Amino acid sequence: MAKAIQQKKTPNPLAPERVAAVLDTLQKTYPNAVCALTHRNAFELTIATILSAQTTDVTVNKVTPELFRMYPTPKKLGEAPLPEIERIIRSTGFYRAKAKNIQSAAKVLVERFGGKVPQTIEEMIQLPGVARKTANVVLGSWYGIASGVVVDTHVLRLSRRLELTRETDPVKVERDLEKVIPQNHWIQFSHEMIHHGRQVCIARKPRCVDCSLETLCNSVDKTWSSR
Ligand code: SF4
Repeated sequence: MAKAIQQKKTPNPLAPERVAAVLDTLQKTYPNAVCALTHRNAFELTIATILSAQTTDVTVNKVTPELFRMYPTPKKLGEAPLPEIERIIRSTGFYRAKAKNIQSAAKVLVERFGGKVPQTIEEMIQLPGVARKTANVVLGSWYGIASGVVVDTHVLRLSRRLELTRETDPVKVERDLEKVIPQNHWIQFSHEMIHHGRQVCIARKPRCVDCSLETLCNSVDKTWSSR
C-alpha cells in the first residue's frame, strides 16, 4: 500500500559508495541497454541522432530505412535534393532545419573527413547539427570511445532527481556527471539512464513503485515511497 511521502535528504548524494550503488542498480536493471536508434554504421548513427532532436527514436526509426536506402553514403546524401530529404524526414519535426543539417553534415564528412565519421569530439562537433550530445552518442555507441556522458532530456531529468547534479544546462550537467561517474561507466550509464527515463522515471509521473532505484532516491518528484 502506498505510504505518504516524507521528504528525506540524501546525506551525501555524490558519495562514491552511493554513486556506485546507483551504477550497480542501473546495470543490473538494464544489463543489455543499447542505443535504440537503428543503424548499421557510424554515418547512419550520426544522421539518425541528428534527426532524433525533439522527437522519439521510434519516429526516427520509421524514416531512416527509406533515407538510407536512397542515400546510403555521405556522398549520396550530400548530393541529394533538399526537398526530397525534407519529404522523407518530415514526420521527425523541424524537418527543414534537419534536412539542411544532415545534407550539410554529409557534405562536411566528404569534404573534410574523407567520407568517414571522425573519432574525436572536436572533429565531430564541426558537423552541422552535431553538438556534444550527438558526438558522445556516436563515439560511445559506435566506436566505444568514452568521450563523455550523453545528456539528453532523460539523463538530465534523472540526474537531477537522483541529485547527481543541480544544473539544468546539459553541458554543465555533463561536466558534473563526469566528475562523479568513473569514465569506464560513461557509455553504459547513458544507455541505462535513457532506458530508465523512458520506461520508469518518466517526466510527468515517475513510476516510483516499479523503480529499482527507489530506495536510493529522495527526489521531490517521487510519487511513492517505500520508507
Ligand atoms: S524513485 Fe521515482 S523519481 Fe526516483 S528515480 Fe525512481 S522513478 Fe525516478
